[in-house]
Amino acid sequence: MTLVGIIMITYTKESIIAAHKCCIFHQTQIMQSTLCGCFHCMSTFSPDEIIEWTDQNNPLGPTAFCPKCAIDSVIGSSSGFPISDINFLRQMNQYWFKGRD
Ligand SMILES: [Zn+2]
Repeated sequence: MTLVGIIMITYTKESIIAAHKCCIFHQTQIMQSTLCGCFHCMSTFSPDEIIEWTDQNNPLGPTAFCPKCAIDSVIGSSSGFPISDINFLRQMNQYWFKGRD
């Protein structure tokens, strides 16, 4: 038998915090990505689907709003973080939206 199907990676707090830096001022990174993930609604989508941006005048670059839930919690695959892993998005969600009250 194989155990592969039940392995869950637990990401470190450091990587969860580091990944959060990739959800703002990231337009260049988003446009270089093949896939984007949102850790608010935990959906994944193509960067082409993003239509709304904020921080348009910030010299660091614009920030994407998620096309599914309109929250600025989008990370692109070119950041190097495993945004296609639902477990990663879940842990991000838990830490940034649920773990601080
Ligand atoms: Zn979303």
